[in-house]
Amino acid sequence: MNRKHFNTIVVGVGGMGSATCYQLAKRGRRVLGLDQYDVPHMKGSSHGYTRIIRLAYYEHPSYVLLLKRAYELWRDIENVAAEPLLHYTGSIDAGSAESLSFRGALQSAVQYDLDHEVLTGLEMAKRFPGYRFPHDLLGLFQPQGGFLVPERCIVSYANQAMALGAEIHGRERVLGFDRANGGGVRVRTNRDEYTADSVVVTAGAWDRDLMPMLSNLAVPERQVLGWFQPNKPHLFQPSNFPVFNVTVPEGRFYGFPIYGIPGFKVGKYHHFQETGTPEQLTTGDNEPRLDDELVLRDFISRYFPDADGPTMTLAACLFTNTPDGHFIIDQHPQLPEVYYASPCSGHGYKFASVIGEIMTELATLGQTRWDISLFRADRFGVPTSELFRDKGPAPRVSTSHHGDPFASGGHQPPQRTKAPADHRGPGSPDDTRNPRYWQRDEVSTFW
Ligand SMILES: Cc1cc2nc3c(=O)[nH]c(=O)nc-3n(C[C@H](O)[C@H](O)[C@H](O)COP(=O)(O)OP(=O)(O)OC[C@H]3O[C@@H](n4cnc5c(N)ncnc54)[C@H](O)[C@@H]3O)c2cc1C
Repeated sequence: MNRKHFNTIVVGVGGMGSATCYQLAKRGRRVLGLDQYDVPHMKGSSHGYTRIIRLAYYEHPSYVLLLKRAYELWRDIENVAAEPLLHYTGSIDAGSAESLSFRGALQSAVQYDLDHEVLTGLEMAKRFPGYRFPHDLLGLFQPQGGFLVPERCIVSYANQAMALGAEIHGRERVLGFDRANGGGVRVRTNRDEYTADSVVVTAGAWDRDLMPMLSNLAVPERQVLGWFQPNKPHLFQPSNFPVFNVTVPEGRFYGFPIYGIPGFKVGKYHHFQETGTPEQLTTGDNEPRLDDELVLRDFISRYFPDADGPTMTLAACLFTNTPDGHFIIDQHPQLPEVYYASPCSGHGYKFASVIGEIMTELATLGQTRWDISLFRADRFGVPTSELFRDKGPAPRVSTSHHGDPFASGGHQPPQRTKAPADHRGPGSPDDTRNPRYWQRDEVSTFW
């Protein structure tokens, strides 16, 4: 047997790649997973101890079917690894009645008949006393929401893949791939050269380095996560504090109960909207800074005042954004044995288990039973792959619900935009730190 030939080589053993290695190995494939860094590591998109999972999905209702399968597959790997990876806390998607985060989640819950409750700000504060949202803010509570533990998911998938015979190498960077002399694909690394019948590229923020056609379509963006020690830690426990996504005048934020390390964890979607290369975005001046911390602390002081204690930890992490906020999953237009996935735009982790299954089906069968037409790359004008050649035109690219600042991404130096000016000074009726603001009892519903 040629020891350097594999059925499938997986480039990038992070969130998506580790799940893919496992699914391939489970189907008896000879698999090689390669990561440029450690397995796992803290330089990409899958670190920070927790990631939200929820079923009612405001990003687009067609994600819900994938999520149902993702839940099943998370349970499968939990059983195999004998380790809890998915923690149910319930989840809240909140905002004004008209906001996408609330209204979209409600629409999805109704359309798919998912368990849910609609709560006002006051009702949320009564039920989950760590919360202090304005009364006119509405939240969709889903009991099936919760969080995954991404580093442990990667470890579980990698361990179980290797137990099934997969080879996984850390600290081996893929330099490129092309057509092998005798068919299949040749993969060159900084240590060796291999061949494979098929290749799956799940290189996250580095996808576009290996596939230049994604240069403006899979754009890394710096995020900062903060952990703050609550003054009342008992209000921020997994048993009484649901994970949340919320749109408030200051922006869109998300948060978690205390888990893994000390502190209540929060982040702001798209933070300062800084794009660039992964290395530019996370090193040197872009290590977490005081201004990163202040934007998170301002949010906490307004909406989670009992968590406004000492800073415990700050960490930088990377989104990889597409222009419309939806994933890209497709086949390479020139090398049909190569399939790739860029499932991020800030919301991909919860899907990692099902993405592993999709990439495995593509790499082994050349097709998947899942409807991935929303994710085809030719919606952005790249050549249509064989996978979609007979499937009609690509879906129209809609304007991003993220208010897309990324369409012209490219390899630009990081640019910092200022945090939005605060027009709600202390004491003004619209100051969201003022208890009178969130105690106001007028609620404008739309249904
Ligand atoms: C701060 C933050 C919060 C988030 N919150 C949520 C959330 O709550 N819920 C949710 O569902 N999603 C969330 N996401 C999104 C989610 O984490 C990502 O979608 C997911 O982690 C992407 O996984 P990935 O496998 O594509 O990337 P990664 O896990 O980064 O894996 C890519 C891997 O490829 C490797 N690689 C790259 N190039 C090469 C090469 N040339 N050779 C070898 N290896 C290579 C990298 O080293 C890396 O390990 C969040 C993301 C961030 C940054």
